[in-house]
Amino acid sequence: MNRRNFLSLSGAGAAAFALAVNGYTENRAWASTAFPSYPFALGVASGEPAPDGVVLWTRLAPEPLDPEGRGGMPSGNVRVEWEVAEDESFTRVVRRGSEVTLSELGHSVHAEVTGLSPAREYFYRFRAGSEISPVGRTKTAPARTASPQSLSFALASCQAWVGGRYAAYRNLAAEDLDLVVHVGDYIYEERNTEKLADFRRLHSEYKTSPDLQAAHAAFPFVVTFDDHEIENNWADKISQPDGEASNSPERFVELRAAAFQAYWENMPLRRDARPEGPDMRLYRRLQFGRLAQFDVLDTRQYRDDQLQEGFPSAPLDPRAVDSSRTLTGDNQERWLFNGLEKSTARWNILAQQTIMTQFDYDTGPGVAVNHDQWDGYAASRARYLDFVSRNDVSNPVVLSGDWHSAWVNDLKSDFGDAASKTLATEFVSTSISSGCGWAGAVAAAVSHNPHVKFADGSKRGYTRCTVTPETWRSDFRIVTSAADTADPATTQNSWVVRNGRPGAQQV
Ligand code: FE
Ligand code: CA
Repeated sequence: MNRRNFLSLSGAGAAAFALAVNGYTENRAWASTAFPSYPFALGVASGEPAPDGVVLWTRLAPEPLDPEGRGGMPSGNVRVEWEVAEDESFTRVVRRGSEVTLSELGHSVHAEVTGLSPAREYFYRFRAGSEISPVGRTKTAPARTASPQSLSFALASCQAWVGGRYAAYRNLAAEDLDLVVHVGDYIYEERNTEKLADFRRLHSEYKTSPDLQAAHAAFPFVVTFDDHEIENNWADKISQPDGEASNSPERFVELRAAAFQAYWENMPLRRDARPEGPDMRLYRRLQFGRLAQFDVLDTRQYRDDQLQEGFPSAPLDPRAVDSSRTLTGDNQERWLFNGLEKSTARWNILAQQTIMTQFDYDTGPGVAVNHDQWDGYAASRARYLDFVSRNDVSNPVVLSGDWHSAWVNDLKSDFGDAASKTLATEFVSTSISSGCGWAGAVAAAVSHNPHVKFADGSKRGYTRCTVTPETWRSDFRIVTSAADTADPATTQNSWVVRNGRPGAQQV
């Protein structure tokens, strides 16, 4: 990186920066003197790719593991400048600006850059005082009316802390991708994760991973949370009992507010995703020309409580099929269906958390399901599948995580009848690092669920998806050990969906 260049380019902008700070008092001492150590220790990220811009993220944290959760920063506001260039050496800077970071927002930056060209690679970096961040690479989405010939992305989820290295992310960072879609369990809460400071410190710890940083620096991320960003299997404002007593609703709302705040501070999300207390609007839509539409769901915040906690399954609760039950909440469901109805995309993708397919774990005459997944909310699933079928939604593809195992599923009009119509295709990505203690239970029941074409909980990795107007291809990329620093990823197997023909075929 070229420090001198950054300084000379930004020198003329002092007056403009003063206008941009909007009445905030900058902490001049911190902005003009050295930080106790490098303030960009958490790396950089970009997200929410649009045709004309992206969100640029960083967080000042010279001491990431500071137990106070302040990242080693004082209270007070510190200005951070950013610039975006067409080239990695920043000789062609096209946009530049500054943000005032606030201690109450964890000194995080969420710069919404606009005025960029569609479907184009850019490089970005930040400056605070005399310190310059690592360089990130990002890419804008194609123009709304464009018909891209290809889109390439990785699906990731479930990255339990395994000591700092992630073989999956190290390999993912070396792929050639347009974006990364992360469907949750970005962190795993710990027994003592109770306050905002605890959630901040935990996010900081994860972000110290050089492999996770490399992935963020290489591609824009589109993220949504699942349960462990707060607490195992939470549902709306209801805490799940975990051995002892569950949190009271009052206490859980406080916990949720703290967890959401830390999540937003640490993700390349837009400013309008910033939580208000325990509420956060996370579901949203991203478009990649006429090729693909991503509907990114939040299936935790508005769901009904789970009917059964049995793990990995429990005998099917007859109430699971009640038409009043919801996994998405009514507003989100209406928003989803409206967007699907108006979609002009060739591939209509749900990026969401838990497995959608029906899956019976009972290999005998009974039926046992996991009630945390769509099986516990069968009416929600039926409404979605019925909607895409009745409205001829073009190529519905469901992307899932949560279950630390890779799956390929035909989503059927009648899961009890293997000959019934396949309405949509589901790919479930295995975990980046989290273990799958229930892999045996899955393997034992797969042959009793003929609409499940593949399921394997024994491997860690991510899913690489390459989408063209005629074909969707998913490659299950796996590593042999979650934290190995030399392990090359290999392709376990590959699956193809043809335009107009739901259901994947193995390559
Ligand atoms: Fe997980
Ligand atoms: Ca989960």
